[in-house]
Amino acid sequence: MNDIQVTTKYPILLVHGLFGFDRIANFDMFYGIVQALEKAGCRVHVPALSGVHDNETRGEQLLLQIESFLKRSGYLKVNLIGHSQGALTSRYAAAVRPELIASVTSVSGPNHGSEVADRVREALTPGKLPERQAARLVSGFAHFLALLSGNPGLPQDPVRALDALTTEGVAHFNLKYPQGLPGEWGSDGAEQVNGVNYYSWSGCIQGSLRSEGQNALDPLHLALRGYALLFKRETAQNDGLVGRYSSHLGKVIRSDYPLDHVDAINQTAGLVRKDVDPVKLYVDHAAFLYARGL
Ligand code: CA
Repeated sequence: MNDIQVTTKYPILLVHGLFGFDRIANFDMFYGIVQALEKAGCRVHVPALSGVHDNETRGEQLLLQIESFLKRSGYLKVNLIGHSQGALTSRYAAAVRPELIASVTSVSGPNHGSEVADRVREALTPGKLPERQAARLVSGFAHFLALLSGNPGLPQDPVRALDALTTEGVAHFNLKYPQGLPGEWGSDGAEQVNGVNYYSWSGCIQGSLRSEGQNALDPLHLALRGYALLFKRETAQNDGLVGRYSSHLGKVIRSDYPLDHVDAINQTAGLVRKDVDPVKLYVDHAAFLYARGL
């Protein structure tokens, strides 16, 4: 599939996102992506982060793992590629210890919050929404988490999970850690801040379900198409959890690939549209980092 051979100067750490798939090993969360990057010649490491949903706590965990990885491997810095909340986790690490981080790449990262988190948060706030609508939203979201984890009995603590991901919650985070954010809604941010390079890419759900091919069989895709209807601001362009412009960070590679939020990590198990290969996007990105001396 990929013939690119590329060894980035700094190893690539893939930082996973929200809700930790508790039955999928960290290695497999980026489905087929670790193997493809290694085959291309990159050194790859997947830190094991707990399911704690707070961005700073996860960021501190990531920093500890980066330090021990660097000590073990002898490298001076790492390239971080963070999916979903993993982007916020990576941004935190780069803001606090820029000397350890060569680059941060946000893949489908809610860098300005998730409108779905906003709606579910409203549903959990008594009196904000009509009770029946609120109950439907909350149980729908619990169902989505269960699909993600493959564990229908997953204990839920949605309030804690959501507060790190709402527009308001991420706005607080951004005040403290603004590195790489665009100055204007929908534009690019700075490519380099404090010696760290910042990049982002993401997708939008596009066309009818019929255009999805085998992805129409993916229950996560169906759930995300449902969530896409909850958006109020980025109604036309979102990946089912994150709006197109909300994902922008640093130099934007592209923010409208035909990918939903979990297609971006080639889930579920490689069920994606035919006209896009998310695995190749990671290998191409490694070549891009290499070309920039990273
Ligand atoms: Ca999919």
